[in-house]
Amino acid sequence: MYSANMTNFLKKKNYLFYFLGLALFFLLYSLGVNQIKSHNNVKKSSLNSFLNSNEFNNIKEYVFKNLNSPYKEFNYIVQNNDTIEKILKKHNIVNQDINSVAASVVKKKLSNIFAKTEVKIVAKEESGVNKIISLSYPINEITTVEIKRNKDTFIINEIVLKLEKKEVVLSNTIKKNLYSSAIEAGIEPNIIVEFANMYGFEVDFQRDIRSGDKFEVYYEQYIDENNVVRNTGKIIYASMFVNNKELALYNFKFNNKDGYYDVDGKSVIKTLMKTPINGARLSSSFGLRRHPILGYNKLHQGTDFAAPRGTPIMASGSGVILRAQKYKGYGNFVSIKHNSTYVTAYGHMSKYGRGVRKGVRVDQGQIIGYVGSTGMSTGPHLHYEVIKNGKRINSQRLKLPTGKTLTNEARNRFEVERIKIDVRLAALR
Ligand SMILES: [Zn+2]
Repeated sequence: MYSANMTNFLKKKNYLFYFLGLALFFLLYSLGVNQIKSHNNVKKSSLNSFLNSNEFNNIKEYVFKNLNSPYKEFNYIVQNNDTIEKILKKHNIVNQDINSVAASVVKKKLSNIFAKTEVKIVAKEESGVNKIISLSYPINEITTVEIKRNKDTFIINEIVLKLEKKEVVLSNTIKKNLYSSAIEAGIEPNIIVEFANMYGFEVDFQRDIRSGDKFEVYYEQYIDENNVVRNTGKIIYASMFVNNKELALYNFKFNNKDGYYDVDGKSVIKTLMKTPINGARLSSSFGLRRHPILGYNKLHQGTDFAAPRGTPIMASGSGVILRAQKYKGYGNFVSIKHNSTYVTAYGHMSKYGRGVRKGVRVDQGQIIGYVGSTGMSTGPHLHYEVIKNGKRINSQRLKLPTGKTLTNEARNRFEVERIKIDVRLAALR
């Protein structure tokens, strides 16, 4: 009686097992069907081929075996200097898969990965090596590359998030410095950098800013379905209250180029920047000083800005590169001819900007090199010179010629645009 009961129980248990197995099978089957449906207009034949495919068989096998799964999932954080190839090698992926995936993503220009992002790999172990089932990684703020095995080849898709453009107006009062107050207001770092560049001609962020000064920025954000900001667009308007006056700047397209103009239609761009570097401290000004290395009094014929090694240095105006090589005590040195009157020079760089060499044209704000301490220098800083008609002058006292003022038809268009911006601004505040 006891054993009969037991057999019965086991039978029941078997039934239960088969039932559960079948239920799971149909669940997965319908999931597979749904997935295929949602992956839009795939024909029936490919559904059948999916059901007969290794991938689906593998899933079935996985469900029924359940124990000691050959499937593995890796979530790997990208390190500096990683490539897709290197990452796959680190996960013991079979060479054939590595070569096939690496070659296809390079061909499709989808191989750029970035440190600190996550790569997801689902692999199946077979005789000591892993075969890729799927692989995904982001290549920018809004695009993820998804790679799936299809028999012995791979299907590569770019999944792009649907983003919505949203306009925001954010403002704050400066407490310590512009950067921390802007972050506090919720402004993204790249917008802060752009904002600082816009005002770089008018405001010396080291010395003009006082606690209590105000700023406002009206710009574009791109948000995803969850209201998360994924990217930013252009600054439409900004204003800064500094040195007891307000300077408002409006974005306006002139000759197909976005620029910033004040209420009178005057461009903010001047021929040269006072400070061709962001976030630097003026550490030694133009004039007589005790030379830190030579030890005697010497006329310092430039301005020094202390900044961490590697900080980008910008061309303070557009022009043609005269020199981009080691030069005397200047170490790695760049000089730019802007017009018949002005030349600027930059010393002690750790390295040069991309493509920066003699004879090349550069735009204002373009990165020409990075802060270093090469040549006769006691620590990382930029030595900056402005040379007017062959004579070195104090860049900080330079009265710069202003940029162009919009006239005639362009001025009329600007006025219309400015009023529109003011109206939208008032509504968004
Ligand atoms: Zn110097």
